Amino acid sequence: MAVDIPQRPTLFIDGEWTSTLSGKTRPTINPYDAQVLTEVDEAGPEEAERAIASARKFFDTSDWSRQSCKQRCALLSRYADLLQEHKPKLAQIETLDTGKTLKESEIDIDDVTNVFRFYAMEACKLDHDKQVTGELIPETVRSTVVHEPVGVCVLITPWNYPILQLCWKLAPALATGNVVIVKPSEVTPLSTIYLVKLLLEAGFPPKSVQLLTASGASVGPTLTESKDVDLVSFTGGLSTGRRIIRSCAETIKRCTVELGGKNPNVVFADCDLDLAVDNVLTAVFTHSGQVCSSGARLIVEDSIADRLVAGVVERAKQIRMGSGLDPESETGPLVSAEHLAKVEGYVKLAREEGGKVLCGGCRPDAKEHPELAKGYFFLPTVVDRCNRSMRIVQEETFGPILTVERFKDGDEDEAVRLANDTQYGLAGGVQSKDTTRAERVARRLRHGTVWVNTYGAYTPQAEWGGFGMSGNGRELGSKGLDEYVETKHIWNETQPALMGWFKGAARM
Ligand code: NAD
Repeated sequence: MAVDIPQRPTLFIDGEWTSTLSGKTRPTINPYDAQVLTEVDEAGPEEAERAIASARKFFDTSDWSRQSCKQRCALLSRYADLLQEHKPKLAQIETLDTGKTLKESEIDIDDVTNVFRFYAMEACKLDHDKQVTGELIPETVRSTVVHEPVGVCVLITPWNYPILQLCWKLAPALATGNVVIVKPSEVTPLSTIYLVKLLLEAGFPPKSVQLLTASGASVGPTLTESKDVDLVSFTGGLSTGRRIIRSCAETIKRCTVELGGKNPNVVFADCDLDLAVDNVLTAVFTHSGQVCSSGARLIVEDSIADRLVAGVVERAKQIRMGSGLDPESETGPLVSAEHLAKVEGYVKLAREEGGKVLCGGCRPDAKEHPELAKGYFFLPTVVDRCNRSMRIVQEETFGPILTVERFKDGDEDEAVRLANDTQYGLAGGVQSKDTTRAERVARRLRHGTVWVNTYGAYTPQAEWGGFGMSGNGRELGSKGLDEYVETKHIWNETQPALMGWFKGAARM
């Protein structure tokens, strides 16, 4: 199948595909072989201003936000169908741009299809106003709680899950009648361009969505500072998240940030060892570790630590790396040369801090694997002898690096203390055959998602988000919808009378 890589113009503003006034473009690179896939338009503040003005006008003057949920949700269902129809092409684009395997891209598309279907149903629950009754409400009063869209929503997404992260925002935002300005990562913009084309094909009003392909520096401040933007939903790194919260503060706009993680995977001695090895590998090496919920910290009970780590190392060495388009590949490259350098830097640091690299720690050997030499590949890496004082344990490397910490036999409290001893709190795992203990430990972890005897699954019905510095909002589930909804209380006195509060009050 010929790959249908989106071509310029790649900005969608005021209902039209357009290029920048400056003519500025940016190459997008295939991380497998470092070749340029295509050039996309690089928007600047002027284009961002135009997108905001169009979105504002459309929200304020069109009947889009006043449509019944049923009408909007028919569009969501149609969109879900289109995602499935276009899955082969969309998956190829995602794989070429991110380096992830085709299988992973296809799973992402299936997942977000379910997210659209879920919100098509969930949003309709908000169509029913809530009548407030009871002894605190006078009989003459009709007290009603109604739900309304927030308004103009800016959706900013990262490069590791371009389709998935965008759709987690798009589906609830559109289901509730908002208008959106989409800003994908400049590293991986291609699938987002395709997704916007499909929105138009599904029948969403053209001005309900605006697309800016650009770096954060080019358009970010214009979008986040604007008084005409009502909400910013951001997924990305901690330092960018901080900057965005500060920038939104000036206009008190709604701002949710979904940030990084340094996620513990706690393995007790009574685990099923084969299962635990498999779970540890899946947790940390899927998508070469470029996963916010990656189980990058192995916290293992002393008595089985050596056996477990040996099993993980043995299997990590066998992971087949290659082009995401090759069905034999189990994992692909890192996303960019810049990110590869960052990951290499972390391994160097780990060695300096006293960590022992048991496998990986470098790029694949170019003589042994000439086919991997041009791309940004990094071998699955296990670093033993780690502790909480080391930066490799505290900071998100976002690469295929597993650190190993041990806890004393039988000391559940120490396991929990280590697992919670992080500035982040996105996700974690517990591996144990004792399901009562596993559930108890899961409840004690200060992390937004905890997997027991597995790792990585999610469902549209259940909330996703972080504790601590992993973020301040929730996506998915009913709370994921609430982010995009304003709630208004209408107190309607049906038999008005003078309130008589001020002595001078009298009928005129
Ligand atoms: P990043 O913070 O560098 O960039 C994310 C997005 O923000 C990009 O679109 C970028 O262009 C934009 N941006 C940058 N500066 C901006 C500014 N000043 N104003 C507005 N937008 C700006 O993150 P990344 O490197 O693309 O993604 C990796 C990070 O994302 C990791 O930390 C990962 O953990 C996190 N992540 C979190 C989740 C989650 O669900 N919590 C999911 C996926 C990724």
